[in-house]
Amino acid sequence: MNSQTTLDSIKRSLVALKMPRALELLDATLRQVEQGESSWVEALDRLLLEEQTLRDNRRTRTALRMARLSAIKTLAGFDFAFQPSLDRNRILALAELKFIERAEVVHLLGPPGTGKSHLATALAVEAVKAGKSVAFATLAEIVTSLAKAEREGTLRERIRFLARASLLVVDEIGYLPVVPGGGNLFFQLVNARYEKGAMILTSNRGFAEWGEVFGDQVVATALLDRLLHHAVVIQIEGSSYRMRQHADLVPETVRPRTIVTPQAGPKRRGRPPLRKTEDQQSG
Ligand code: ADP
Ligand code: MG
Repeated sequence: MNSQTTLDSIKRSLVALKMPRALELLDATLRQVEQGESSWVEALDRLLLEEQTLRDNRRTRTALRMARLSAIKTLAGFDFAFQPSLDRNRILALAELKFIERAEVVHLLGPPGTGKSHLATALAVEAVKAGKSVAFATLAEIVTSLAKAEREGTLRERIRFLARASLLVVDEIGYLPVVPGGGNLFFQLVNARYEKGAMILTSNRGFAEWGEVFGDQVVATALLDRLLHHAVVIQIEGSSYRMRQHADLVPETVRPRTIVTPQAGPKRRGRPPLRKTEDQQSG
């Protein structure tokens, strides 16, 4: 067999094995070896690593799409200086993802625009990159999907599906009142994940208000019982990043007191402003 025939055979194998990156680099790599620029072992190593990188990137992209995550929100892109009440090291420790192995619950609490969804997304993206299965949805979306499944007689399957991801992010607890029966459905999901899978929850309401949020004190108590066991609670007490450039245009009635000078302002507790003051985009 002459060398051209062997080369063709290698190329056919790479096609059959679905290794497009290695195929693409084969000729150039061969030339480097022939010119003594690299050894065969090095060349083979490089081809395989390139192929592996392509696969990892593709897998990450697909997983991000499946989890409906945008990789635009990163920890690197988060301005910790804007949010002095937030301990950067705690967030960076979470990014090591041990909380996922320990099936813990992370609560990100704070008024609108303080970066809860940004941080939840960034942590979820880290998890996807590390090969974890991740699901991301708002509480309203989860309740709607569970209610639909219940009507269609597929609630068990739906809960099993949502319980499978190693990380479930539940965004926007407290913005919208939960529909009647919704708290109960959400409880079934939380119970299915309890001590089995990690969660990140974001909320603009304190735990004391969950009875109101879920329209049912008994359900709220049962939920908190599960969700505060093995939990990390991170409270952000700052002003809205969205409104930072337009603070003077926002009416006093909806303006968090700390908006102009986040460092100097008093610590806000309890209820955020009544009206939803953020833009439509990501809530
Ligand atoms: P929340 O979920 O708390 O209402 P978001 O996470 O949606 O707030 O933040 C609102 C917008 O401001 C998003 O576009 C987010 O990326 C951005 N943002 C919020 N806080 C920061 C920050 N500290 N550094 C950079 N961007 C931020
Ligand atoms: Mg949000």
